[in-house]
Amino acid sequence: MSLAERLKEASQHLRGSLNQELTTSSPEFSKPATTLLKFHGIYQQTDRDLRKSGTKEHSFMIRIGIPGGFVTPEQYLQLDTLADEVGDATLRITSRQDIQYHRVSKHELRDLLRAMDKVGLSSWAACGDVVRNTTAQASPLRASEQKQILPYLLEISKTLKPKSAAYAEVWVDGEQAATFETPSQETEPLYGETYLPRKFKIGFALPGDNATDVYSNDVGIVPWFDSNGTLDGFTILAGGGLGMSNGVKASHPRLADPICFVAPQDLIATVAAIVTIHRDFGNRSNRKLARLKYVLDAWGVEKFTAELRDRVSHELHAPKTLTWQTSHDPFGWHLQEDGKWFVGLRVVSGRIQDDAQASLRKALRRIVELFRPEIRLTAQQNLLIAGVSEEYRGEIDLILADHGVRHAAELPPVLRHSMACPALPTCGQALTEAERVLPSIAEGIQSELNRAGLSHEAVQVRVTGCPNGCARPFTAEIGIVGQSVDLYSLYLGGSPVGTRLARLFAHNIKRSEIPNVLSPIFARFAEARAAAESFGDWWNRSGVHELTPVLLTEVVA
Ligand code: SF4
Repeated sequence: MSLAERLKEASQHLRGSLNQELTTSSPEFSKPATTLLKFHGIYQQTDRDLRKSGTKEHSFMIRIGIPGGFVTPEQYLQLDTLADEVGDATLRITSRQDIQYHRVSKHELRDLLRAMDKVGLSSWAACGDVVRNTTAQASPLRASEQKQILPYLLEISKTLKPKSAAYAEVWVDGEQAATFETPSQETEPLYGETYLPRKFKIGFALPGDNATDVYSNDVGIVPWFDSNGTLDGFTILAGGGLGMSNGVKASHPRLADPICFVAPQDLIATVAAIVTIHRDFGNRSNRKLARLKYVLDAWGVEKFTAELRDRVSHELHAPKTLTWQTSHDPFGWHLQEDGKWFVGLRVVSGRIQDDAQASLRKALRRIVELFRPEIRLTAQQNLLIAGVSEEYRGEIDLILADHGVRHAAELPPVLRHSMACPALPTCGQALTEAERVLPSIAEGIQSELNRAGLSHEAVQVRVTGCPNGCARPFTAEIGIVGQSVDLYSLYLGGSPVGTRLARLFAHNIKRSEIPNVLSPIFARFAEARAAAESFGDWWNRSGVHELTPVLLTEVVA
């Protein structure tokens, strides 16, 4: 077993020395404690910019898991208030519909998590080797279908949470916890003493709309509705995961395979059984190869399904055929089924903040205070303001305009459909920049699209600071993956509906060269595409292996 496995086993269900270390004046936790902190949704980090000048300043990233990205007005106001009290005065929407606080100091942790607890939010199991925040379609466009899957989303989120009382003891009842004894009867019936070998992600998508990138999950769930719109069951996919590890050749991104179709009442048991397959057969000696996808790789779908069948007492039917028409978040104003309205706002890199261009945080606070709408966070790091009465639409538009917040339609298409992970300066794994350079990368790519006469083309661009792929670059039409300082690998040809991986086009391209590298490709795309063909589909159809050497010669020339 790896060191991480032994640590989990000896941790008394994820308690370790967290309580004791919280009482010291040190601004950091010990190494073993930082491993356990992740299960509590907390990453210890240092500012990599400051580190260059010899200063090592510790801070913490806190991830608040929000199933399906559904946030009540009270919760949003609390999240916003706390952004002024801790961290860097920003809220960051993640690609899994969480909210992250960055640059929180150690002495602020308990107060933050207690305040979250008061509005029913927590960071428990938002990271670590457990089932993390479960994603789902946030858009109210298909509210009646969404309403039918919501109970299953909440049940999965509840049932698959670790049962240990560690989080409550350490963060919520901190004073009492000093004398709190581990209840002898506490068990982890699903996870056992060593939890899972690695993280486990679950996501729902509605039929035809893959806005959540359902194939990138360890378990993807797609409901099936009969001709009356009534829920009839779920197709279950397994074995997706987009991360790769530098220097580990066997690691690779993988899309989930369709495994089976189950009746609604059998969903939770099926998903829990898949979690136990990961628990029992995932690699516990090498964390780089420990995701469920490597079990699928080794076994194939047939053997995996046979093992699953042995672990459940209900029938597993053949999966339904899935087809996809869209994957974009709905921007701008839309009418809901209930006669109210929602507006989709583009949040670049998911960062809700006030800066020189716009005061998005202030605008959202004002809107939530005045109109009490629901807030929905999307898996593409955007935000929807939902449940708005017709008469308030104008006022909301005015507040947004007064605060300099532009509607998505006013932004260049590339920026509108891009994503980036946080990377430098806070992420310890980052090899180079992502979020901070996204606007300039998007601008450069947009210029080349404009030059090729493709100014309205909504090409997906996703940038990460390392191959772990947190912003899902490997399913994008253009994936830009950091390799070392200012050098990126370029992946091209992902499907715009998330059903095909992009393929490596070029390694170690300088950031400033990315637009030049793409320029001849866009020129060819403009000439050779079929009507309404997307960039990713064209690239895939045009034959990567034949085209790549020609284009690289042009780039070099
Ligand atoms: Fe950090 Fe890499 Fe994830 Fe970006 S992709 S947030 S650099 S681990």
